Amino acid sequence: MSAIRLENAAKAYKSEDKKDKRKHFAVRELNATIEQGEFVFLIGSSGAGKSTMLKLLGGEISPDEGAAYIDDVNIARYFGPWKARLTRTFGIVGQQTMLIRKRTIMENLLVAGRARGMQRKARAAAEKALGLVGLPGVGDCYPAELSIGEVRRVELARALLSSPPVLLLDELTANLDDDTIWDVLHLLNELNSKGTTIVMATHASQFVNIMRRRVITLVDGRIVGDVKNGKYGDIV
Ligand code: ADP
Ligand code: MG
Repeated sequence: MSAIRLENAAKAYKSEDKKDKRKHFAVRELNATIEQGEFVFLIGSSGAGKSTMLKLLGGEISPDEGAAYIDDVNIARYFGPWKARLTRTFGIVGQQTMLIRKRTIMENLLVAGRARGMQRKARAAAEKALGLVGLPGVGDCYPAELSIGEVRRVELARALLSSPPVLLLDELTANLDDDTIWDVLHLLNELNSKGTTIVMATHASQFVNIMRRRVITLVDGRIVGDVKNGKYGDIV
């Protein structure tokens, strides 16, 4: 059980123009607490800071200002052997696909399972997870043999492997057709009803509007809306 929280979190990047020494804030003054079991959509146009916020929440990057917490413990303290706490807490699907191209889907999942300390149970867990995302037969395929939508679902399966309490999903629905988006949202809803926290960056406005969950809206790196039972475009 893990509440996750950002407190005045900011992340800056150097400009690609080497002469430009100013810091460019990808996000700033992010304040949000997400309790165990919440379902949150993270929305905003391209470049608004959604991916950066997800990475800060999951401890993939550290904030330049402010802090990220799991249950009131600063994530910055989870380094070295303590890092296992992050791996146990989060199932992550990044915006860019991360599958190893020269390994089969099953091998990819086993690598991920081992990284999470799963040994003999990894294969059974991988088969179960592939079943959950509706792709029970793809274990022997290579990533290039699957459609982009199937690859995204395999990545969701990988995130689900060790049944983490929190899922951080970045544009998972971007390359899926509507029917598949429904299937995925149905699965996420079911996991959520059993207590899994879901934080999902998405552009799929019609689905956000039907689901009526918490909606956090980012504009230019700042939270401009955080609404329970929200809709796309709610700013409060
Ligand atoms: P979103 O996911 O909403 O599209 P991002 O979090 O990816 O937004 O990006 C927010 C801002 O930070 C953008 O202006 C982007 O160009 C910048 N940014 C993100 N990651 C990097 C990086 N690794 N290096 C430089 N700038 C970055
Ligand atoms: Mg993004």
